[in-house]
Amino acid sequence: MKPWYAHYDPGVPKEAPAPRLLPEALAETARRFPKKVALEFLGRRLTYAALWREVEAFAKGLQEAGLKPGDRVALMLPNSPQFVIAFYGTLLAGGVGVNTNPMYTPRELHHQLRDAGARFLVILDQLLPRYLEVKGEVPVEKVVRTGIQDYLPFPKNLLYPLLLRRKGEAPKALEGLPWRAFLRPGTPRPVPLDLDDLALLQYTGGTTGLAKGAMLTHRNLSANALQVRAWIPDFREGEEVVLGAIPFFHVYGMTVAMNLALLGGAKLVLLPRPEIKAIVEAIEKHQVTLFPGVPTLYVAFNNFPGIERRDLKSVRACISGSAPLPLEVAERFERLTGAKLVEGYGLTEASPVTHCNPLYGERRLGSVGLPFPGVDAKVVDEEGRELPPGEVGELAVKGPNVMKGYWNRPEETQKTLKDGWLFTGDLAKMDQDGYFYIVDRKKDMIIAGGYNIYPREVEEVLYQHEAVQEAAVVGVPDPYRGETVAAFLVLKPEYQGKVSEKDIERFCRQNLAAYKVPRIIQFRESLPKSSVGKILKRELQKEVAAKR
Ligand code: AMP
Repeated sequence: MKPWYAHYDPGVPKEAPAPRLLPEALAETARRFPKKVALEFLGRRLTYAALWREVEAFAKGLQEAGLKPGDRVALMLPNSPQFVIAFYGTLLAGGVGVNTNPMYTPRELHHQLRDAGARFLVILDQLLPRYLEVKGEVPVEKVVRTGIQDYLPFPKNLLYPLLLRRKGEAPKALEGLPWRAFLRPGTPRPVPLDLDDLALLQYTGGTTGLAKGAMLTHRNLSANALQVRAWIPDFREGEEVVLGAIPFFHVYGMTVAMNLALLGGAKLVLLPRPEIKAIVEAIEKHQVTLFPGVPTLYVAFNNFPGIERRDLKSVRACISGSAPLPLEVAERFERLTGAKLVEGYGLTEASPVTHCNPLYGERRLGSVGLPFPGVDAKVVDEEGRELPPGEVGELAVKGPNVMKGYWNRPEETQKTLKDGWLFTGDLAKMDQDGYFYIVDRKKDMIIAGGYNIYPREVEEVLYQHEAVQEAAVVGVPDPYRGETVAAFLVLKPEYQGKVSEKDIERFCRQNLAAYKVPRIIQFRESLPKSSVGKILKRELQKEVAAKR
C-alpha cells in the first residue's frame, strides 16, 4: 500500500511548514513587497508598507491606552481594513484578539465579552447600540469605534455616513475613541512574543448552551495559513489576489483568506458582506486568483443570472469548507469558471483546516480529502482505539494547528484534547488510501448557510419565553442553506391560542443572531419521547423532511 501522502500534488511537502509569529511574518511581507497592494476595499488601496504603518500605529495606540501583554481585545467588525489592522496591531502590542460576530445580539455579546474578560473593544459605529445595552455589565474599559468610511476613498468617505443616516442605521449615541484619534503614528514598544502565546480566542460551540473560547496561538494560526499555502503547489508569492468575502470573525475566513494572503504577499480584496453580486464583480474587476468559500456561496454562484457570460477565468483555486459540498455543485462551478474547487474539512479548534482534497490530483467522491502536511488523523472507537480503514468512528486529529485548549474550561479541554489529539465530535471513516469521509456529526449541531448553530443554545432562549413549556430544536435539510433550523414547541396550557409562531420568532430575533433564529416554528400538543423521556429529535427531523 502506498503511503497516503503519495496522493499529495507534486511539490506539496509531507511536513508542516515552520510556524511564525504573526506580526513578524507580516512585517517580513511588508519588507519584501512594500509597494504591492495589500488591501483593496471598496476602491481604497493600502500597500504593504502603508498597512504595516497602520498596524504599528494601532499597536502603539493600544499600548498608550494601557494594554498589558495578554490583555484581550474584542473585535466586532466586518471584513475591512480596520479588522486587519486591529487584529495584527493587537498581536504586535502583545494582546490577544477576540473575534466577535457583528450579528450578535446583546445577550450573546454579554456572554462573550465577560467570558473572554475583554478590556478593549474595537467596534463599528453602527453596532455600538448593542454594546451600549451591556455596558457596565462587561469588563470592557476602552472602546475604539470606527466608521466604515474611515478607509473609503474620497468622496465615498463623505457620502457613506450620510447614506447610512438616511437609512436610519447611524447610532444615536456614540461612545469611545474614534479610530483616527486612537492611532498613534510611530513604532510601538517591542514586546517579546512566543509561538505558543495566545493570539486569538475564537468562540465556538454551545453544547452546554454557552459558547466557549478556543485558544489559538501564533503557532496554530500561522501553521494553518502556511499549510493552506503549501497545499497550493503553484502559489506565487507576491502575485496572488485573494478574495476575502467569507467573514474573518470566523477562523476559516481569518486563516484561509486573511492570513493566507498577508503571509504570502497577496492582494486581499475585502468585501464587508458575502453577497454574490459583489463577489462576481470583484472577481472580474480584480482578477481574483484564489477564492475560499462555503457551499452555499458556490450554489449562489451557479444560480447567478448570466453567470456563464461573466469572466471568471482568473480564478485558479477555490476551497470549500465548513459543510458538505455536493459534487454537482462543484462540477457546475468548475465548468463555469474553469477554476479548481476542492472540498476541505476543519473545525475552529484546529485553526481550522485539517483535511483537503488535492487541488490537481485525485479527488474522491464525497471525501474531504487527505490530512494536511503535518496533520495526523485517525478514526477511533468509543474507547479511543484506532479503527481500520472502512470502519466508522470519531475522527481525531493532531498537528501544529490544534488549539491549546478552551479558555478557562479545563474540564471541557480534557474531554476534547487527549495526549495532543483533538477529538472532533465528527463521525468519519478512512479508505485504504488514506482519504477521509465525514459520515455524520456526533455533536448536536446544525450547519445552515455555513454558520454553525447549537440547538441547545436556541432551546435555552425558547425556554426563556413565558409561554414555552417544552422545546426541541433540530436541523432539517434545506436546498439552499444545506440545513435550516426548526423548532417544535409545546405551549403552557394557559398560553395556548394566545401566542403565535410570529411572537416566538420575534422573541428569538431579540435574543439570537439572525442565522440562529428558527425558520420553521411548529406548535405541538406533545413531543415524541423515548422510554426514558429523551426527546426523539431524529423523529421530528424525519417528519419535517418527509413533508418538504
Ligand atoms: P466550526 O468549528 O464552526 O469551524 O465547525 C466545524 C464543524 O463543521 C466540523 O466539526 C464539522 O461538523 C463541520 N464541517 C466542516 N467542514 C465540513 C465538511 N467539508 N463536510 C462536513 N462537515 C464539515
